[in-house]
Amino acid sequence: MFGRAPKKSNNTKYYEILGVSNSASQDDLKKAYRKAAIKNHPDKGGDPEKFKELAQAYEVLSDPEKREIYDQYGEDALKEGMGGGGGGHDPFDIFQSFFGGNPFGGGGSSRGRRQRRGEDVVHPLKVSLEDLFNGTSKKLSLSRNAICSKCKGKGSKSGASMKCSGCQGSGIKVSIRHLGPSMIQQMQHACNECKGTGETINDKDRCLQCKGEKVVQEKKVLEVIVEKGMQNGQKITFPGEADEAPDTVTGDIVFVLQQKEHPKFKRKGDDLFVEHTLSLTEALCGFQFILTHLDGRQLLIKSEPGEVIKPDQYKGINDEGMPMYQRSFMKGKLYIHFAVEFPDTLSPEQCKTLETVLPPRSSVQLTDMELDECEETTLHDVNIEEEMRRKQAQAQEAYDEDEDMPGGAQRVQCAQQ
Ligand SMILES: [Zn+2]
Ligand SMILES: [Zn+2]
Repeated sequence: MFGRAPKKSNNTKYYEILGVSNSASQDDLKKAYRKAAIKNHPDKGGDPEKFKELAQAYEVLSDPEKREIYDQYGEDALKEGMGGGGGGHDPFDIFQSFFGGNPFGGGGSSRGRRQRRGEDVVHPLKVSLEDLFNGTSKKLSLSRNAICSKCKGKGSKSGASMKCSGCQGSGIKVSIRHLGPSMIQQMQHACNECKGTGETINDKDRCLQCKGEKVVQEKKVLEVIVEKGMQNGQKITFPGEADEAPDTVTGDIVFVLQQKEHPKFKRKGDDLFVEHTLSLTEALCGFQFILTHLDGRQLLIKSEPGEVIKPDQYKGINDEGMPMYQRSFMKGKLYIHFAVEFPDTLSPEQCKTLETVLPPRSSVQLTDMELDECEETTLHDVNIEEEMRRKQAQAQEAYDEDEDMPGGAQRVQCAQQ
């Protein structure tokens, strides 16, 4: 128990921080805090620590009750009293409640909590490659919280926001405990009557439309314009269209484009890619086919007379790729990647016919003598990728076994020497 008051000490610091004497009037304190807080505000490049100290000093000295405790017993007595040690308020809240909504203008209302920013709402928006090629607009119906139109977010019929009688509108209740003849303890907690909002609504005055909730559910139709050339992952933002709440800056609704796979076209930046398979005859003797583009146009694609297309070859068509974003008159390239399908077998007769037109075989130039000196071999079909994979796995296994056996690797080396 505090039988005796602590010795008088450490009760001048707050006055020094504000640069006033300990007999300063409320007016003097206000002036001093205003000048120093503007000068030291972190938004204006001030030192956050100093700003915090100023707010703390002003918070205490501007409250007659707290000032009295401070003058008598110093800072520590207050810290004990504020519950939770050294606490106090957010210095920005103190600054804001002093200056109102217009901190650097000097004037403004004395009321006003710091405005919170509401959350952004992000929706994925599935689009086809055709949508990104041609551009489109999509109407989307969303439901959101909107400030009640009837009470304008006050929650009451009368429209007047009533100060909570439990906390005089501060949202905070202060209870004082007497600890001794000249010792009191202050406790702060959120007001239970208004849940810390500082306002209450009389049951009879409750707005009928929102039932005092201040917001109502609202259906809103947004038209999302998908512009030509937009990219997968690109964001389309509707500023301030997210959920509304009193004393809150409304967040944004953000649509993120998600391009669906296209069965035929692949996109890389501004270019488009199409796979096309030719028969061997087409590859050698020429081809033509129709490609339906993303805007429905029919493109005739054909080889030059006498041109041979090799497997894995690419051909490009200028200005038939994707339109460029916000410069849609410019377009990328359309690339066609060719595969060539070879016949599995040919009869001896077919070979003879082909040999009459194709370049001669190099093997016929081997002499009998050369052939006599050779050994016969047999060619097997292989799946090369599969075989390489298996071999690598075997090698890894053997290596792992060596690792497991201490000195195994060295033994092998010794044996080889
Ligand atoms: Zn209402
Ligand atoms: Zn209250």
